This record gives sequence, C-alpha cells and structure tokens, in this order.
Amino acid sequence: MSMAGKRRPLIAGNWKMNGSLAASRGLVEELARGIDHAAAEMLICPPFVYIDRAREWIGGAAIALGAQDLAAVEGAGAHTGEISGTMLRDLGCRYVIVGHSERRTLYGENDDVVVAKFRAAQAQGLIPILCVGENLAQREAGETEAIVAAQVAAVIAKLGIAVFANAVIAYEPIWAIGTGRTATPAQAQEVHAMIRALIAKHDAIIAAPLRILYGGSVKGSNAADLLSQQDIDGGLVGGASLDAADFLKIFGAAAR
Ligand code: PEP
Repeated sequence: MSMAGKRRPLIAGNWKMNGSLAASRGLVEELARGIDHAAAEMLICPPFVYIDRAREWIGGAAIALGAQDLAAVEGAGAHTGEISGTMLRDLGCRYVIVGHSERRTLYGENDDVVVAKFRAAQAQGLIPILCVGENLAQREAGETEAIVAAQVAAVIAKLGIAVFANAVIAYEPIWAIGTGRTATPAQAQEVHAMIRALIAKHDAIIAAPLRILYGGSVKGSNAADLLSQQDIDGGLVGGASLDAADFLKIFGAAAR
C-alpha cells in the first residue's frame, strides 16, 4: 500500500563549507523569490556563521532553516568551538543534519557520537536528519543493507523507536555524494523500503509517515525520477543546492 500521499516531501539543501556573505544572500533571495508551491517543504542548511543572516534574507518566504551539525553535548559550558542545539533554536533553526558521511569519515564521528547529537537535537526541539549510507566497497561486497540497518539500529538501541516520530532519515550512498554518480531510482527505493520496513518492525505507526530522503548527486535533471519512488520522500542536496535555479527545479519536481 502506498503511503506516499501522507508524506509531505522535504527538499533540503546542505551547503557544506561553501559560500560567502554576498553569495549566500544572493542564493537565499533567489530561492525566496522563486519558491512557488507548498506541496513540499524547502529547507536550507547554511554554514553556522550565515544562519542568522539567512533568516533575515528569507523574510516571509516558506523556507525552513537548519544546521549541518551540532554539539553532541547538551547545555552550555567549556566546549571551545562547539555550537549547541540551544543556539540553533535561538537562531530559528527547525532541523539539523546529524551523522553526515563527511562528519563520519573526515571527523571520526562514530555511531555513539551520532546518537548523542541526535539526542541533543531533539532535546532542543530540533528535528534531526539522520544520515546513513554505505561506501563503494561495502556496496560491492553486498553489505549495503547490513551497514544502513546498523546505523539506524544504533539510534533505536540507545534512544528507542519513538524518537523517529520526530526525525527524518537521509539515505546517502557515499559513492554517490559529490561524485555525479547517482543511485538509480530502483537502487535507492530498495534501500528506502528496507529502512521503512526496519522501523515498521518496531512500530508501523511511526514508520508510515517517516520521511526518508535520498541524497547523492541529486540534480534538477534526475530529481523527478528519484522522487517518483514510493519510499523516497525528498532529497538531501549538496552541490545542486548552491545553484538556486537547479535547487528550485528539484523543489518543483517534489510537487507531485
Ligand atoms: C550531501 O552532501 O548530502 C550530498 C548529497 O551532496 P551532493 O548532492 O553534492 O552529492
């Protein structure tokens, strides 16, 4: 049974460590002018230092704000260089990405850290976007399902299934991130369905409305095919989110 009609797609832009004040302003203003439907939700995740300004540039447009990361610790205190969930809420963020593969591989974040960040996000009323995905060697070894299931299970084991009532999962095969190599819609759908089934095994009521985004070289040219899949409920977009016209095209493809 298709539950797609019950889920409002989320098109999320992960700007990563890109941009300048001027370029960010131009990008946000073009998105604010171009957003033309409410069938999907648009989210931008600028670098921390531009979030507050982005809120001003968004003005009254229906663009949600999020961050790319947050501190694993809750509260305030002696954590030089860290940004807390409380601060992100203070700036008007609604979402925060946790466990992006670049954080896992370049900054050594293991499942314990990712789970702590997930918890810290929800403690502040932020919606975590939990990123999961396999690398190329793991896919070629036939380990995709086991790797992705373990990353989701790490959260369930420590925090319980109920936390997914207020979270988003992003399936991002690492071999497709920033490489121009996209998973085929069928390859992505297979993993998305597996993730939903895993959640449903614990709680079908939570699994049905859970949004599972696909990420990995999503562009205006391939978004419609990916988003037409039953269990693909939006996109986490890196490179193409820096190009307002292409991001708007992806967003347009989500109006189904
Ligand atoms: C990402 O970093 O989340 C991502 C999917 O990047 P890209 O769209 O550039 O592959």
